[in-house]
Amino acid sequence: MDFRLGEKELALKEEIRKFAEAELPPGWRRSTLIDGECRDFEFEIAISRKLAQRGWLVMSWPEEYGGRGASLWEQTVYEMEIAYWGIPGAWMGISGTQWVGPCLMMFGTKEQMGKYLPLIASGEKDGVWCTCYSEPNAGSDFANLQTRAVRDGDNYIIDGQKVWTSAAHRARWCWLAARTDPNAAKKHHGVSIFIVDMKNPGVTVNPILNYYGRHHFNEVFFDNVKVPAHNLVGEENKGWYLLMQALAFERRSTAPMTYGHFRRVLEELAKYAGHTEYEGRPLSQNPVVRAKLADLAIDLEVLKMFAYQIAWRISQGQIPVYESSRNKVMSDEVMRRVAVTGAELLGVYSQVDPDSEWAKLRGAIQGAYLGFPGQAIAAGTAEIEKSVIARFGLGLPKSY
Ligand SMILES: Cc1cc2nc3c(=O)[nH]c(=O)nc-3n(C[C@H](O)[C@H](O)[C@H](O)COP(=O)(O)OP(=O)(O)OC[C@H]3O[C@@H](n4cnc5c(N)ncnc54)[C@H](O)[C@@H]3O)c2cc1C
Repeated sequence: MDFRLGEKELALKEEIRKFAEAELPPGWRRSTLIDGECRDFEFEIAISRKLAQRGWLVMSWPEEYGGRGASLWEQTVYEMEIAYWGIPGAWMGISGTQWVGPCLMMFGTKEQMGKYLPLIASGEKDGVWCTCYSEPNAGSDFANLQTRAVRDGDNYIIDGQKVWTSAAHRARWCWLAARTDPNAAKKHHGVSIFIVDMKNPGVTVNPILNYYGRHHFNEVFFDNVKVPAHNLVGEENKGWYLLMQALAFERRSTAPMTYGHFRRVLEELAKYAGHTEYEGRPLSQNPVVRAKLADLAIDLEVLKMFAYQIAWRISQGQIPVYESSRNKVMSDEVMRRVAVTGAELLGVYSQVDPDSEWAKLRGAIQGAYLGFPGQAIAAGTAEIEKSVIARFGLGLPKSY
């Protein structure tokens, strides 16, 4: 099998490199993946608008919805390159571009597609979404969600609390899971998905600072929020299948992003080992260091193959369930391993803030080290992902 990129993909990579050179300030290192927040929202939006204008932001969507009908393979290459250069903007609206949009194309009405897909594709502030699944008592046990949606004429009335909602403070729209039938025989049977305007009266967003002081996620309260009935996505009480699809899309998107970002970090670590001496010899001559860097290179190649394989399966019309979980686990592992090896090589420099003049690799290792525990929880913990792999990949029975 020939895994080399074709002319089209190589040209795209080159275009993205030039874009990064032209649009990003010198020494740029910010990455939403690592940074855990978007510090300069205006800049992020300015860049996402430009990505949209080039037809890159949602390139695999049909042209009528703002895409350019590119293959998912091409999109995967784009995602890897964007992450390699740390180009912001693409990930700010990740809920919209990566799972809300694709799910609307599968389950949405014509009106929903006509209204929301072009907004997402525009890269503008009004196209930024957040995802409201988790609640104080519904994380891994997601089917336990208690937020209620009660039909009232032409509307639903939403009441409840969500938590850990990434980017809710930036989002214009919310992709919300709520309980529509509290008496359903099985708790995942009475769940539905809604589109909620974050500007609706009764929506309150409170910041939560993560364990290293960044504002990435929030708690969101819904107090008697009126949502038009036509904002229900798919069928009432049948949102669970839709949610599983959305989660598979979300988990798919982590591999290209992680691969691209950490491919660059590894290249920089290798250079660092080449010009940093320990006991009179460059680190790069130390066999232990060489083996550790080689291990990371192998991990990254595996992740890249996983990313390509899943893109291929989706392009064949298949729904990759356990593969999405596998990619998520591998992405989290790669992030952790680069962080740990990087910290071993950099020593105390790995603890220096990216903004400090003493930071090495522009703070990439500190960012990875602080970021990997949270990354391994978001979109499903390793235990939950492995349970999916055991069940759907290995055919083992359900464990609970
Ligand atoms: C950076 C970040 C961003 C996030 N963004 C969002 C977002 O935008 N929207 C959103 O809705 N949520 C978001 N989340 C929340 C995330 O989805 C949940 O934190 C996650 O699903 C885990 O749920 P929990 O925190 O309630 O932990 P729990 O479910 O309470 O889990 C605690 C521990 O128990 C383990 N565990 C639980 N059940 C089982 C089981 N059956 N078998 C084995 N082990 C088990 C877990 O693996 C974990 O180690 C985000 C989280 C993070 C860290």
